[in-house]
Amino acid sequence: MMNKNYRPETKCIQSGWQPKNGEPRVLPIYQSTTFKYETSDQMGRLFDLEDEGYFYSRLQNPTNDAVASKIADLEGGVAAMLTSSGQAANFFAIFNICSAGDHVVSSSTIYGGTHNLLAVTLKKLGISSTFINPDASEEEIAAAFQPNTKILFAETIANPALVVLDIEKFAKIAHSQGVPLIVDNTFATPINCRPFEWGADIVTHSTTKYMDGHAVSLGGCIVDSGNFDWDAHADKFPGLTEPDDSYHGITYTEKFGKAAYITKATVQLMRDLGSVQSPNNAFLLNIGLETLHLRVPRHCENAQAVAEFLESNDKVAWVNYPGLKSNKYYDLAKKYMPTGTCGVISFGLKGGREVTPGFMDSLELAAIVTHVADARTSVLHPASHTHRQMNDEQLAEAGVDPALIRLSVGIENVQDIIADLQQALDKI
Ligand SMILES: *Cc1c(COP(=O)(O)O)cnc(C)c1O
Repeated sequence: MMNKNYRPETKCIQSGWQPKNGEPRVLPIYQSTTFKYETSDQMGRLFDLEDEGYFYSRLQNPTNDAVASKIADLEGGVAAMLTSSGQAANFFAIFNICSAGDHVVSSSTIYGGTHNLLAVTLKKLGISSTFINPDASEEEIAAAFQPNTKILFAETIANPALVVLDIEKFAKIAHSQGVPLIVDNTFATPINCRPFEWGADIVTHSTTKYMDGHAVSLGGCIVDSGNFDWDAHADKFPGLTEPDDSYHGITYTEKFGKAAYITKATVQLMRDLGSVQSPNNAFLLNIGLETLHLRVPRHCENAQAVAEFLESNDKVAWVNYPGLKSNKYYDLAKKYMPTGTCGVISFGLKGGREVTPGFMDSLELAAIVTHVADARTSVLHPASHTHRQMNDEQLAEAGVDPALIRLSVGIENVQDIIADLQQALDKI
């Protein structure tokens, strides 16, 4: 691990891979499923978690570990684990401390895939969820807790609703209920917000988005702050505080202390469920991370200019971007993300749903893709794409305006992005 006093820009470049004398300067891809030992006993001790070391890439791989430790450093956590996707990260983060009969309280304004995971798939495994309005009062949110609740879950900036989370409020509620706050920090990235500084306990990422930043590799990450006191709530978290039969009765909190949560996720969940990130993808992710501190501010600067342009255009009905003074979340964004929020904007045209597909087809620079947080400007119309099977009534229930356009502002020259939007607006 790096010197914690380095600033984020330096950590983006220097954290993670620490070559010893004569080793490659640049993080190598350990393209190997397995690792060699001289004695049978050495290998046996690894299986008993008595020694640290690599033996099989489904559990741990040196390339992945170097990249995970860079992300842990950026977030200010004790340890991290890479996963094959953001979906896998959120699933593991939850399943690591929830089992059949348990319950999750989650913000209702979260990524559609995570909503499905909680509302449909985890329910099949016996884990139920209650969704709450993130803007509700502390009392209202606390009222959703049950004796079997194990997690409070939310996103720092919700995709695609762009709701900014009051992290301190959420941390206070979670801790007064004796459970950790898990925050998906995909959109803000640790460049704009470090949720541990405001009381979050676990952070997750879809590294597919800004961290990779070039739309080349799927990935996810879980970071542990090491701050949650599992033993103080031992009855709620027996998976961490009681012996694990699959490791001859090891107790994670006893043996691994502050790294208990992430160690269990690695040696138990990754071992049994195997959603590991490929070392090749981790290598690409690391290259993305090296410029994260340059790209994120440019995404935000461009998005701010584009949001202001759209807000002043008379063919645009509304614009949702937390960096706009008119935005409901402007003050929260200034508090938690003083350097910027993200590059994603949503807006609607005055002509509504009817004129939207034509407007999008007229765009030349902005590409129609199912992706956000790419270096390239991209655009999506949920009512025509991700939510296509729903009628207007169903869309309203799902909180998706039929006219909503999701614009992910890239890092091209902002005048070119605005000119592209202008010529497409002129054609309506
Ligand atoms: C994209 C996304 C996910 C899912 O990540 P994948 O890498 O696509 O699996 C989860 N949370 C948020 C906030 C996202 O934007």
